[in-house]
Amino acid sequence: WTADTIAVVTGGNRGIGFEMTRQLADHGLTVVLTSRDVNVGVEAVKVLQEAGLKVEFHQLDIVDDASIKEFADWIQETHGGLDILINNAGVNFNVGSENSVEHAEQVIRTNYYGTKSVIKAMLPLMRPSKAGARIVNVSSRLGRLNGKRNRIGNDTLREQLSDTASLTEELIDNMLNTFLEQAKDGSWTEGGWPQTFTDYSVSKLAINCYTRFLARELSDRPEGEKICVNCFCPGWVKTAMTGWVGNISVEDGADTGVWLALLPGQPASGKFFAERRETSF
Ligand code: NDP
Repeated sequence: WTADTIAVVTGGNRGIGFEMTRQLADHGLTVVLTSRDVNVGVEAVKVLQEAGLKVEFHQLDIVDDASIKEFADWIQETHGGLDILINNAGVNFNVGSENSVEHAEQVIRTNYYGTKSVIKAMLPLMRPSKAGARIVNVSSRLGRLNGKRNRIGNDTLREQLSDTASLTEELIDNMLNTFLEQAKDGSWTEGGWPQTFTDYSVSKLAINCYTRFLARELSDRPEGEKICVNCFCPGWVKTAMTGWVGNISVEDGADTGVWLALLPGQPASGKFFAERRETSF
């Protein structure tokens, strides 16, 4: 990895995204810090540049198609594409033991559909390389399909979503549509959805499923044009999202994502990681 390696981080203005940007740039890469708000993004970049790091800014709101298109055009014109994409931007409106689905639509639209739109726009721009381009999705253990806690109660749906070979985007979308309908009419509490941070957990479950789906779709790319896509849980991190009550620092929360982005050789694809170890979905 050199200064010619271009990494892009979404939601890089604060929290885990800012720290992943810092750590990647510390490894000598050129990192494009993106954020939806220009002022806070420019400020964040200034801090890293003053520390001598190669960091650039560009605006990117992951739920705004025009913003994504403008960013894609810019990265293509300025750098001829990118090598590493870190999908970090996300929202969560539940804190503590609160569990409201009032913002379910925005949570699903941002964490799942926004992330997916960025991936789809960036895929054709990922530069060929020997080690393969990398996509890292920041996810959560709360979205585990088969975890002991917080999994969805519908056994048939769980089995369908577990079967990577036959997984489709339609299946994921149908699950999300059902959830959003129930969130709207109030029947979600009886729907067998995850009990903790329900809308957030469903959004992360969807991104985990999409990671496996995408890895399968990308698996037959020729040597030299490989792209690996993985996701990870940063742990419970002291950031605005947790009200700074997490039990680990942003430095530790960012670690597995940076490690995944920079793994030597051609790493596995379509896997879920936590604390630098592969974990079951
Ligand atoms: P923060 O709330 O500090 O950061 C979230 C970032 O996402 C902000 O930069 C925010 O921008 C950005 N963002 C939100 N919506 C958009 C959008 N539409 N377009 C672009 N950027 C957007 O939280 P964290 O750093 O903790 O979270 C980072 C990631 O880690 C998230 O995906 C989260 O789900 C995940 N995660 C966090 C955990 C934790 O314990 N903290 C645990 C598990 C996963 P803005 O400043 O403009 O709001």
